Amino acid sequence: MENNRDQKAVKLISVVSSDPFFKTGTVTPVQISDVFNGTFKGIRTGSTTPDTIFRSSDDVYFAVHYTTVADASKNAFGGLLVADVEHVPDRPIRLNLEEPADVLNILFLTMYGIPCDPYDPSLNSLCAALQAMHKYGLTPLSRYLSRGDSPLYATILSQAEHSPLETYALAGEQDIEDLAVDASTKTLDCVLHTISVELAGRMGIMYLMRLYRLMDTREEQMKKLFNIDPKLHEERTDCTVEQQKEIRLDFKYTAGSLCWKYPKVYRNEVETKLNKVRDDVSCEECKAILTAEIDGILQGWMQLPVCAFLTWIRWIGMRIVCLMYYRPPSSLPVPNPQYVVPPTV
Ligand SMILES: [Zn+2]
Repeated sequence: MENNRDQKAVKLISVVSSDPFFKTGTVTPVQISDVFNGTFKGIRTGSTTPDTIFRSSDDVYFAVHYTTVADASKNAFGGLLVADVEHVPDRPIRLNLEEPADVLNILFLTMYGIPCDPYDPSLNSLCAALQAMHKYGLTPLSRYLSRGDSPLYATILSQAEHSPLETYALAGEQDIEDLAVDASTKTLDCVLHTISVELAGRMGIMYLMRLYRLMDTREEQMKKLFNIDPKLHEERTDCTVEQQKEIRLDFKYTAGSLCWKYPKVYRNEVETKLNKVRDDVSCEECKAILTAEIDGILQGWMQLPVCAFLTWIRWIGMRIVCLMYYRPPSSLPVPNPQYVVPPTV
């Protein structure tokens, strides 16, 4: 999967030898970004020809606009636009950067507000791009990572479908609150002990605790949800008390086995398996009772916490309430003389 993505990113970079804008002075083909080439006009700038050329560590060229880069950066693009070069119109600035093309591609696309979805960047590349944005002064990251209207936000969040914990760690590492909340909704079937020390370190203690509380609270509530005890109806000749108990035992066993699968248990599976037990019952009264139990479980399922944000707020609220009502004991309890052992001499 990783290799496929890298190949896709490379394919979208042109290999040319005769672009007059770059004036490489050699017949050797050079790799030029398919977007940021000599004809790139920008989107919001209204600029004409690019006037600044960046070369990645793996020899791919990106042609952009000096004013766009300078305006976007809070540190003159890591000091490069001030210390090393002087901007002269009609004379492209040429700068070498330490980052590879797939990282710079994300960085420049984000700077110009262009979606990077077509390149299907890997999570590692996205992570490196965010670090590069810090390095080159494209801060605060919230400018480029707002929920709802940011192409980069959507691209990173899409990674949570197949790498939920890693995406959540990235959000925690960069302290991007909305992204952490949205990514946490994809971690619901993750097993907590699979989080490596390295990943936990990247999340940071606060985001790790939030994830822990989400999973812990969800498991606790799910156990209560599946702890059912269907009532019996009046005994009939065609459905005795013993038969009813057997039906309910089967139903409770199925519900319990589903609960034991936590966190790898899903709503569709719950509905399908419990419905099957009910449908195998011939007594209509028993069926109605089991149907009510299934409805209760499915409704309760909708109330389970699904993201770290809500669980965290509840957790904070619980602690505040505990502190408000906590009273230290006024004196030590008096021991029962029956259990007091006399001191030995
Ligand atoms: Zn019955």
